[in-house]
Amino acid sequence: MFFKNVMVPYDESEHATSALHIAFGMVGDDPGAQIHVVMIVGAGAVPAPSLVGGAFDTPIDTGSLMEYDNMMGALVERTRNEIERVVEDARDGAQCKVNVVVRTASAPVEGIAEYVADHSIDLVVMGRRGLGALRGMLGSVSFGVLRSVDVPVLTVK
Ligand code: ATP
Ligand code: MG
Repeated sequence: MFFKNVMVPYDESEHATSALHIAFGMVGDDPGAQIHVVMIVGAGAVPAPSLVGGAFDTPIDTGSLMEYDNMMGALVERTRNEIERVVEDARDGAQCKVNVVVRTASAPVEGIAEYVADHSIDLVVMGRRGLGALRGMLGSVSFGVLRSVDVPVLTVK
């Protein structure tokens, strides 16, 4: 295949799952190609340490910071395992390499653009919409990625 590093930004939505199937369909059995399935966990996914402590006026100590790190770590690990399962289903025996990544970033668009630059991504396949409730032409993450990366982006339903 012409494309060697294909990224599927994944948010567990139906459109993103369909992007995953399309990416496997395109890359298929090319052993020289790799599919990068990447979920960006926004910085606000777990409440700030002071909120984890349960009270605004409790001073932040090392204990609660560790607790925060552990919560974030556990969240990322659980999500990664869940995505691995979906990916194995979509792979359906295809021989290409796969890398499942769950990363924290300030926001999905920034995290996706950074990953594209750092991993020589040559094609992005993503959902036209995601988990958002509003129905429209294009979700804000898809729109942001189209604006901020220079590689081809395929958006799918
Ligand atoms: P909005 O978020 O603007 O309300 P939406 O949720 O319907 O709208 P997007 O968030 O733009 O639409 O989702 C479009 C595609 O972007 C998804 O199918 C998925 O491929 C990708 N995507 C969205 N959020 C993430 C994320 N956190 N990490 C990785 N990929 C994501
Ligand atoms: Mg969304």
